[in-house]
Amino acid sequence: MNARAAPLIIQGGSVITLDDAGTVHPCGDVLVEGDRIRQVGSVPESAAAGARRLDASGAVVLPGFVQTHVHLCQALFRNQAEELGLLDWLRCRIWPLEAAHDPETLAASADLGLAELLLGGTTSLLDMATVHHTEVVFQRAEAMGIRLTGGKALMDCGDGVPAGLLEQTAAACEENRQLARAWHGQAGGRLRYAHCPRFILSCSDELLAALPGEMAEDGVLMHTHAAEHPSEVPLVRARTGASGIEALELRDLLGPRTCLAHCIQVSKTDLQLLARTGTAVAHCPSSNLKLGSGVCDVPALLAAGIRVGLGADGAPCNNRLSMFTEMRLAALLQVPVYGPGVLSAGRVLELATREGAAILGLENRIGSLEAGKQADLVVIDLEQPHTAPAPPLDRLAEVLVHAATPGCVRHTLVDGEVLVENHTLTRVDRQRIVAEAQRLLPRCLTRAGLAR
Ligand SMILES: [Zn+2]
Repeated sequence: MNARAAPLIIQGGSVITLDDAGTVHPCGDVLVEGDRIRQVGSVPESAAAGARRLDASGAVVLPGFVQTHVHLCQALFRNQAEELGLLDWLRCRIWPLEAAHDPETLAASADLGLAELLLGGTTSLLDMATVHHTEVVFQRAEAMGIRLTGGKALMDCGDGVPAGLLEQTAAACEENRQLARAWHGQAGGRLRYAHCPRFILSCSDELLAALPGEMAEDGVLMHTHAAEHPSEVPLVRARTGASGIEALELRDLLGPRTCLAHCIQVSKTDLQLLARTGTAVAHCPSSNLKLGSGVCDVPALLAAGIRVGLGADGAPCNNRLSMFTEMRLAALLQVPVYGPGVLSAGRVLELATREGAAILGLENRIGSLEAGKQADLVVIDLEQPHTAPAPPLDRLAEVLVHAATPGCVRHTLVDGEVLVENHTLTRVDRQRIVAEAQRLLPRCLTRAGLAR
């Protein structure tokens, strides 16, 4: 049955719209028709006649979370790369495992990640795939119903890169071009393309030089890792004679359609470059802590006018894909340096929703609950032992950021379709996805020479 056939009303929740005025409806409704929000607030019974009803009592209704940096291809490798710094983590575990993927294992990985994201209230993501079989990630996102911007990881040089991930420059650029043509704008606009050079050390100057011309396509993004770990800084300087941010600017790769993951190792000059070019940053606090990368100075970025979104990064460096975890850490990490309140829960909630949408270039379509926007939204149950007692209405952001967990997500909608209803995935079987992941991981470990 097409879940979008009938109008749908989400009733009786506290609706945090995240609109420009910060409107909150203490006990409101959201009326959805087709893939759009028709009305927000108090919807009269006459307008909801014949509509399917979803209960939001005791819950908060929010725009769906937007994660601005994820690797679905790594979800299968969760719990397989522990206690390593970034470069060893990549060279000894993640790159060999990514090189071991075939279309079937990659599909299992994407399904696992997408199931976790939807069950945890993430409705949109910016994904960096691996080098091969990127079409599988788009196919699984289309099948699972989520909103995905992503692209193939571009790698044509670098130390410690396995042969299976190292491509000829021209071949990498050609496949990248074909993927962008095939997938950008598909599934009613839910799927979009991003050029994803992995990081500067894995891309030749020839490859990077090809990308600005490719970005002419309407709405295609540029997404890469930059200024992540202290160990990468001297290597980037030796290769380019500049900082990672300066090197990207010199190659004409910064701008309003560029999103850089991490940006921890940044100077004042780097910050000015990011601000001047309108480049966005994806802050991934769990990953940054686990890989020993450091703490991104988010208050400095925001004070400079730089747009910041949040992301879980890959499952092996987190080990969750939970926006709740990233929101809580993003807020807490700044307290020892700046003191309480420098990054308020309300501000963090904006980064997790409307700011992420703007970084994806989708601010006119998603990121807030307003009539006419796509119906990407989540219903988060706050009548749980770990979230109760309910705070006053003006403190709901605090409970969402500091107390709520993915288990609180009651319903998740993308484009008006209920993809999670009463904590259950509607399009796919959760047990089957977990069983497939369990079955297929040993194949990758064996191929990567990492089986024990
Ligand atoms: Zn990453």
